[in-house]
Amino acid sequence: MGRVVHKYGGSSVADADGIKRVAQRIVATKKAGNDVVVVISAMGDTTDELMDLAQQVSPLPPPRELDMLLTSGERISAALLAMAIANLGYEARSFTGSQAGVITTSAHGNARIIDITPGRIEESLGEGHIAIVAGFQGVAQDTKDITTMGRGASDTTAVALAAALEADYCEIYTDVDGIFTADPRIVPAAKQIPKISYEEMLEMAACGAKVLHLRCVEYARRYNVPVHVRSSFSQKEGTWVVDAKELDQTMEQAIISGVVQDTKEAKITVVGVPDKPGEAARIFETVAGADTNIDMIVQNVSAVATNRTDISFTLPRADGARAMSALARMKDEVGYEQLLYDDRIGKVSVVGVGMRSHPGVSAKFFSALADAGVNIEMISTSEIRISVVVDENLVNAAVTAAHTAFDLDDEHTQAVVYGGTGR
Ligand code: ASP
Ligand code: MG
Repeated sequence: MGRVVHKYGGSSVADADGIKRVAQRIVATKKAGNDVVVVISAMGDTTDELMDLAQQVSPLPPPRELDMLLTSGERISAALLAMAIANLGYEARSFTGSQAGVITTSAHGNARIIDITPGRIEESLGEGHIAIVAGFQGVAQDTKDITTMGRGASDTTAVALAAALEADYCEIYTDVDGIFTADPRIVPAAKQIPKISYEEMLEMAACGAKVLHLRCVEYARRYNVPVHVRSSFSQKEGTWVVDAKELDQTMEQAIISGVVQDTKEAKITVVGVPDKPGEAARIFETVAGADTNIDMIVQNVSAVATNRTDISFTLPRADGARAMSALARMKDEVGYEQLLYDDRIGKVSVVGVGMRSHPGVSAKFFSALADAGVNIEMISTSEIRISVVVDENLVNAAVTAAHTAFDLDDEHTQAVVYGGTGR
């Protein structure tokens, strides 16, 4: 007898029909002899709608109250799903994150899991019930207040529960068939990846792939939970995210596993920074103080005549205004000349463990971009990733060119996007 965790995204339970369809899938898994735990997202766009509503009554809703509000979305879908399962003759029990033992920090809106104490879930499984857990929420260890763990964090709830309950694997049901070599909406010839390593998936999620929540992949890697990303709208096998050791070593490993883009970043350039020790530290302390996560950094060589340099970095667009005003306040202290802001940029990354053992990957990537007429503004790399910043309007051209250059195009596949947003 197995034990599995399923997670269904909002687009899979957008309406009553969706909930009934999902209930059937869950019951089939139970019938096959498994213990089944289900983590559920809020129906359709409920979370966005609740956010809008909060904005209408208050421009700056108190974070504690916002979390109380947002977590209600997942309670609704969890209870409805339990009812739909009961109709099929099976017993289901719905639980809030707090009841399921998801213990977090008290950082409202962005809480981290500290511990999982799933006693009630174990009990419920022991009685033969299907356990349904409201996703993306928990309870703060210190304040005992209800928390949320960031947009899209139901994936993380699912993998964390799978680890704590020692499930065989965790299935993440969404509205696409799996992980693709590129976004099929940009590259129709993109193909589905059957198996991918945690480390590649981490890089892809960090670089803008929206299918899985970043922290969910970190969690899966740390606890070695196999994750199966698949569609709730079809019976097709999806993509397995697993330890690199489980990848087929006999097959010639592709150099690049996928190409991803991120069009949610902006670039700040600090012009004319005095080239002396401590300046960069001061700039990035200021930005960190504004609670902003920076991504790529580039510092130019300093001009001999002036002994000044320019420092550019990228950050989430949503943090742009905060970082700019924090830096503006430091103008005299740092002594820079000017601040520039550009949010018409996009980041394109190629990811693959194969590049560890293949020289010339950057050269191939950059010449594909050159042939496509794409100018590179910034570059950063890791052991298994190369990222470039380009003009926002050229992102699709860059993704397509890289996909072709690394032989990833497949004329025979036709990726299906079933609706929703990929969550
Ligand atoms: N409902 C939440 C969101 O839309 C959490 C999730 O779906 O994972 O972000
Ligand atoms: Mg959602």
